[in-house]
Amino acid sequence: MSQESYSEGDLRNTGMSLKHDREWDYELDRIVEAVEERDADKVGLQFPEGLKRRGPRVADDLREILPENVTVLISGQPCYGACDLDTFLMRRTDVFVHFGHSPMKESDKIIYVPLFSNVDVLPSVDRAIDEELEGDDVGLVTTAQHMNRFEEMREHLEDAGYTVHTRKGDDRLTHEGQVLGCNYASADIDADQILYVGGGKFHPLGLAMEHPDKKVVIADPVNNVLTIADTEKFMKQRYGAVHRAMDAEKFGVIFCTKIGQGRWDQAEEIVDNNDNAYLITMDEVTPDRLRNFDMDAFVNTGCPRITTDDGPRFHKPMLTPQEYRIAIGEEPLDALEFDTFHGTW
Ligand code: SF4
Repeated sequence: MSQESYSEGDLRNTGMSLKHDREWDYELDRIVEAVEERDADKVGLQFPEGLKRRGPRVADDLREILPENVTVLISGQPCYGACDLDTFLMRRTDVFVHFGHSPMKESDKIIYVPLFSNVDVLPSVDRAIDEELEGDDVGLVTTAQHMNRFEEMREHLEDAGYTVHTRKGDDRLTHEGQVLGCNYASADIDADQILYVGGGKFHPLGLAMEHPDKKVVIADPVNNVLTIADTEKFMKQRYGAVHRAMDAEKFGVIFCTKIGQGRWDQAEEIVDNNDNAYLITMDEVTPDRLRNFDMDAFVNTGCPRITTDDGPRFHKPMLTPQEYRIAIGEEPLDALEFDTFHGTW
C-alpha cells in the first residue's frame, strides 16, 4: 500500500497522542463515544486478514484513552468481508467494532469503520480515459476501499465529456457504485463499458463474467496498472472443475455458518433432490477441513470466492450451485455463469 500519510482526526479533539503511527483513520473517537454511551466494559475489535497485524496497535491506542476498567478483545477468527462478523465476540462484548468493510447490514450493536484508502485515484482514471475508454457513456464501479473518492471520479469522468452511469446494487451493497467479490448488481447499467477502479484480479473478473456484453476496464490506482478483464483462463478452470465432477456420485454440500454467507435454500434444494448429497456445515471452508470427507465432489453455497479463487486447492472438484446442476446434467455447459450472492441475513 502506498498510503503513507494518515489522518489523526479521531484523536485531535481528545488531546491524546498516538502511541503508534497509523495510515488510516480508525475513528477511535466514535468507539470511545459508544463506550461512554453504553457504559461498556468490553470492546471487541475485528479486522480483516490484511489488517490483523495492526490490531494490537489499535488496541494500544484505545486502551490509552478508554477508562481502565474497559477490556479490549481482538477477534482471531479469519475475516474476509462484512458478511463475516465474529458473532461469538459480538455477543460477548458491549461494543463491537468491525474494521475494513462497509456495513452489509446495520445494527446498533456494531460500529463499522470502513478504513478508506487515501491513494489518489484520478491518475488511473486519466489513464483509462487516454488508453481504453471509448464513446460517450461509461459505467463506474469501485470497491468499498475507494468509495470515499467515488464522487470525485464521477465528476472527473463527466469533466472529460462522459455520461457516467451508476446505480446502487441490492441490499448486500451499502453504496452507489460499490461492488463486492460476490455481487456486481451496481454494474447493471445502461452502458457498453464499465470502469472498475480498484485492485485485485477476481473482482473485475467476476464483473466481466456477470456482464459479458460489456467491456470491463480495470484501473488499479494502488499499482497504477490498467488492464482489460479477460475471462478465458478463468472459464477454462471452471469448465475443468465441472468436467471432473461429471462422474461424481457422492457430493458434499457446504452450508456456511458465517452470518452473511449462508444460502440455505440452495443447499437444501440439492440435498432434497439427491440422496447421495450430504449437507456439511462449517464456518471457514478450507482444503484441510474437507480432506477427511470421502466425497467425489463438493458444492459450495457459501462465499463464491472460495470456489473460484481457492477451488484448485481442494482435493476434489469444488463447484458452485449452478456448476453442480451442470455436472449432473440439469443445465447445459454453456449456461455457466459467475456465482453471485444477494441479500443479507
Ligand atoms: S461472501 Fe461476498 S462479501 Fe463475503 S467474503 Fe465472499 S465475496 Fe466478500
